Parts: sequence; structure tokens; C-alpha cells
Amino acid sequence: MTLQDKFGRQITDLRVSVTDRCNFRCVYCRSADPENHLPNGDLLTWDELERLVRILVGLGIRKVRVTGGEPLARPGIEEFVARLARLGLRDLSMTTNGLALAGCCDRLVRAGLHRVNISLDSLDPGKFERITRTRALPQVLEGIRAAQASPLRPVKVNAVLVRGLNDDEVENFAEFARVHDLVMRFIEFMPLDADRHWTRNLVVPAAEVKRRIEARWPLVPLPHEPSETARKFRFADGRGEIGLIAPVSQPFCGFCSRIRITADGKLRTCLFSQEDHDLRHLLRNGASDEQIVAEIRSRVLEKEEGHRINEPDFVPPARTMVFIGG
Ligand code: SAM
Ligand code: SF4
Repeated sequence: MTLQDKFGRQITDLRVSVTDRCNFRCVYCRSADPENHLPNGDLLTWDELERLVRILVGLGIRKVRVTGGEPLARPGIEEFVARLARLGLRDLSMTTNGLALAGCCDRLVRAGLHRVNISLDSLDPGKFERITRTRALPQVLEGIRAAQASPLRPVKVNAVLVRGLNDDEVENFAEFARVHDLVMRFIEFMPLDADRHWTRNLVVPAAEVKRRIEARWPLVPLPHEPSETARKFRFADGRGEIGLIAPVSQPFCGFCSRIRITADGKLRTCLFSQEDHDLRHLLRNGASDEQIVAEIRSRVLEKEEGHRINEPDFVPPARTMVFIGG
């Protein structure tokens, strides 16, 4: 049994957000207010989350990425990973800000996590603080080191580039990838920030990133699956890899294979969906698996053709990254 939308796209990837809370307050993601989060009772329990993922695995989901908010900030995350691992996924990964990673990396590996993506938006302590509103750069670097020393390697490190904020660090990040033999991924800033500061001028196009890195170190393209978000390159003369994720300048919606579950139990068929589809009321009102499957199938069938960021009448979604989970 597989999940398919009306454009014939097979849905095989799931991003599951386990919390909207976070111990960072990155400027491109959320506002400075730390109290602005969902009440606990709105979050799906671990049992509810596992049930949804199990149902989706029965519908052909093969890749699951656990995200948030900050997934490592929710107590019980390691046991949840272990429960997901028992579902026999082809790929089980997590996106984290890395703050707590060094302390739990071994346990996550034992729980069955396959891979980790760590966000790192600056290598400069002052700039890191301006972006994340924390002084946690040393802990994040420690988390990257721990993951690189574990079976989770090669680690993917994600940087969201914002013009005027950290775009001067492209070459430093590329060097970081070479020195530490890891995958450095550059993500275009998307109109999903809570403060609504996004403008097109703040986006650093992937083509510029590639041009600048290639001016220093020749790059060799690597093969990729059509549904993969990143265009991948290795350095011609050494270790490390580059990934370019260009949702704004080179949308990849035509090959999208992803859906999302938010921490409060909503099915989201596109990052830029104007509306979510509530599954929590089904979970909490005695719905059978078959009823939940029917709801998921009908919503996925209507998955958006594309995100429309570049259309003149584009309206950013009401729910920003805080609630969606990246
Ligand atoms: N807290 C974890 C982290 O930061 O890795 C996981 C959740 S975070 C929402 C997931 C990813 O979304 C991160 O790589 C983050 O940098 C990215 N992200 C957040 N806001 C974004 C935006 N406005 N545009 C592009 N990427 C964004
Ligand atoms: Fe937290 Fe991740 Fe958003 Fe930064 S990008 S505020 S670490 S959820």
C-alpha cells in the first residue's frame, strides 16, 4: 500500500515534530519570546505519535526525520527513537540544534538512530549569539564532534544563510566541511520566520554559494535522488561534502515526497500549506486505524502542487516554522 497525491507523487518521507519548544531562539525561526508555546495537553503523547508513524509506515513511509522545536528538549525522546527504530524504517534521522547532543549521542545510537542533522549558522561566537540568542556555540561544536566520532557520521551540518547576517561565512563553512570531513548544507532562508522579517533580498541564492566555493575549491557533482532536497557536491581535491538546498531560487516541489506531522497532531502536506489537517481529534476520540488511514489518504491526495513562494500573490502560511517543524 502506498500513499500518492493527485499529481502522481509517491509519499515516502515523513518529518515528525515532537515539540514546538526550543532552547534556542534563532532569528530566522522564532521571536525572542520564550513563553510563546503550546500547552502540554495540545502535544501528542509519545503513544499517539508512535501510532501515527506506525500507520504511516503501513502506507509506505520509509524515511522518518524527527524534528521540532528542539527534539532533544522533550524528555523521553531516546525511548521514542527506539520505538520508531522497531518499525523497521529504511532511514531514521533527527534534526537538532546540537545543544544537548554530546550528552546523549551514544544513547541515540543505541536507540537505533541512523543519522543526524545539526544546525550551525555561524562559526563566530558573537554572530552565533546574535542568530540563536544563546552562547551555546561550544556545546554545539562538541555535539558535532561527538556525532562525528559515532556511527552517525558523516554528520550533516545545516546553515541557513541570511544576507548581511552570516553570508560572509560561506567559505569558512566550506573549510569546516573539509577539515572535519562532514556534509555542510546551505539552506535558503524561507518566509517561515515568526517575526515576518523575510524579504527576497535576505535570501542568499544557492548559485551564489556554489560560485563562491568553487572559486576556492573545485567541486564535483554527486548523484542524488530526484526527491532529495539537496544538490550534492564533493571537493575535487579532498574530504568533505557540500549540499545546496534552494527552495526559493530552485524549487523542487515537482519531486516532493514529503509530508509532516506537527507536534499537536496536524497533518501538513506542504511546508507552505495554508491549512493543516487535524488528526489529534481522531486519535483522541476512538477512531480506528482504518478511519485515520482514510483521512490521511484523502488529505495527501490533495497535497499542494508547489509552494508558490515565487508567485505574485504568495501569502506566507499563518503557522510558521515554530509549529511546523523543519
Ligand atoms: N531545532 C532543530 C534545529 O534547529 O535543527 C530542529 C527544528 S528546526 C525548525 C529545523 C530546520 O529548519 C533547521 O535546519 C533550521 O535551521 C531550519 N529553519 C528554521 N527556520 C527556517 C527558515 N525560516 N528558513 C529556512 N530554514 C529554516
Ligand atoms: Fe530552535 Fe531549531 Fe528554530 Fe533555532 S531553528 S529556534 S534551534 S527550532
